[in-house]
Amino acid sequence: MSIAAAEVGSHDTVDQNWRAHATCAQMDPDLFFAAGAIEHKVAKRICRSCPVRRECLAYAMEAPVDHGIWGGLTERERRRFRRRAGSDWRESFAQGA
Ligand code: SF4
Repeated sequence: MSIAAAEVGSHDTVDQNWRAHATCAQMDPDLFFAAGAIEHKVAKRICRSCPVRRECLAYAMEAPVDHGIWGGLTERERRRFRRRAGSDWRESFAQGA
């Protein structure tokens, strides 16, 4: 199972077709949920070239998912983004923030 297959649970009403195109689709999800700095760096590098990075990040922001690396951001980075953008985070995101 990959991160693309994880976290479906209660969020399964959201369009998740993007998951089929995830770079991590065949990877071990542990890499994306590990706490170490080296694992974060490796996972973020994978996310940078993922064709569905924005969809993945939007999903994690919308859910919200409070653990793991999604769309190339850690949970701490997602919280920071949400704090800075406030209630307009979707608009900031749409503008490429
Ligand atoms: S952005 Fe990263 S975590 Fe999200 S689907 Fe792509 S590779 Fe997986």
